[in-house]
Amino acid sequence: MKIYVDMDGTVLSNKLDNQFRCIATAINMAEALLWYADVYVDDLQVNTVLLGKIATLKAEGHEIIGWTNRDDNKQLMTERNLGIYLPLFDTIQYHAGDKRSSVVSDGIVYDNEAEYVAMGAAGSTLVTW
Ligand SMILES: [Mg+2]
Repeated sequence: MKIYVDMDGTVLSNKLDNQFRCIATAINMAEALLWYADVYVDDLQVNTVLLGKIATLKAEGHEIIGWTNRDDNKQLMTERNLGIYLPLFDTIQYHAGDKRSSVVSDGIVYDNEAEYVAMGAAGSTLVTW
């Protein structure tokens, strides 16, 4: 089965998304998008409990797909953020803020936002730290 795993707030701490939302709310969305285009954050924590579960699912033969609203230009940063855990992922999909348009009903979603969990198959899980 396919396992779709969100990055920010799910396997990685939510500093990036929190800062984005803060700028969007305090200033405006245009400024938040400009900030996001150039920001690189390398001090995110990893969710070792969830990554342990993902390692088990991978060992059972499931396909592990990173499923993120990050842009393509965040690929290297994402790989650094995941560090030694990167090989757990068969692929990482970068949806540039448009995860809602992707099809994930063929698999289980792990995400920190309920609206994305609701898009996945039965067994999809809301992740909290
Ligand atoms: Mg998230």
